[in-house]
Amino acid sequence: MTVLGCRTCGAALTAPVSRVALPVHTRQKYHNGPGSLDPVLEPGTYAVDPLPSGSPWRRWADLEAGEAEEHGWYAPRFSISDGPAGQVLLAPGDVRGAVIDPSLVGDSACCGLGGGKPNMVCVTCGTPVATRIDDCGRWQAVWLDPRTTSVIEIGPGPHPTLDWTDLIDQRPGIPPSTPDGNWHPIWEAAAASALAHLLAASGGDPILIPDHRVAEIFRPTLDRLVGPASTGPERALFLAGPGLAAADGDLALVPEHPQTGELWPLARPVKPVPLAWDVWAHLAFHRDPKPVGRPVPILPEALPALLPGSRLKPDGQIFLSVLSRLPKVKQLWLRAIYDRGRPYNYSYYPF
Ligand SMILES: [Zn+2]
Ligand SMILES: [Zn+2]
Repeated sequence: MTVLGCRTCGAALTAPVSRVALPVHTRQKYHNGPGSLDPVLEPGTYAVDPLPSGSPWRRWADLEAGEAEEHGWYAPRFSISDGPAGQVLLAPGDVRGAVIDPSLVGDSACCGLGGGKPNMVCVTCGTPVATRIDDCGRWQAVWLDPRTTSVIEIGPGPHPTLDWTDLIDQRPGIPPSTPDGNWHPIWEAAAASALAHLLAASGGDPILIPDHRVAEIFRPTLDRLVGPASTGPERALFLAGPGLAAADGDLALVPEHPQTGELWPLARPVKPVPLAWDVWAHLAFHRDPKPVGRPVPILPEALPALLPGSRLKPDGQIFLSVLSRLPKVKQLWLRAIYDRGRPYNYSYYPF
């Protein structure tokens, strides 16, 4: 099992946890709903953000020439994090021996904790060790600060890694809608990230989407972003992954393994477009009414619409942050699309 603890006094700060991939929706800000969303991670799991995150922040205008690209940013941001790399994400219920310190809670949040900097201390020694986030519209999270915490015991933990076949059986994905009939926030986040990768992989060529449920997610947004101006050969987008026939298009939506973060491998020259497992699996296998036993693919054209009557608006902030990390955003046509987020300081996108 893996347990993390305080660097200062050695006290354990977590329950036994197993590593999973950092979810695409981790830092999503979902509307201004009443209260926070669910914990971003399942109980008994943790994830690591390998990139710098959190405060302090540096304004884009203050960066030296070439410095942004050195940090892996290929298009302008309002500011970039100069915080520590390797922050560790947990579900709040898996934290042990740490408490919120009211004197460390900033006042920039709305009705919960916004988590600009560490606001939890080690009960044993008082060192600030973690940042709790539970503001409205945010996924609940605790981030352990790698400067004051470390792994004190390492092992497989309560959740063994599943292979792709087990994933199909045990993790069937999440439905596209919330009980009140809106698109699920995870779908908005996953679609935003996939859209950024899709545009970059397309090279600006028109994208053909034969599967009407995949088209339902991307077509209206692609038409608004790229429009009829794009010329060149059509690039066909297909779903590819475990349990599906090999892709024969130019671009394939492939699942990202929710534990290891690996992408489903493709044969060249098909280009991968990563999609969060929980959305990919629903698109690939969910059938209404459910077939008995193992999921069986049905021809996509026989399936009903995912969510009748409303267009999925990808999460703008996630779209921009994923796109700014892709070197292809430097292509002029794609940069022009990216720059539509500039009037909003790249925290919103007018889809
Ligand atoms: Zn301590
Ligand atoms: Zn609020």
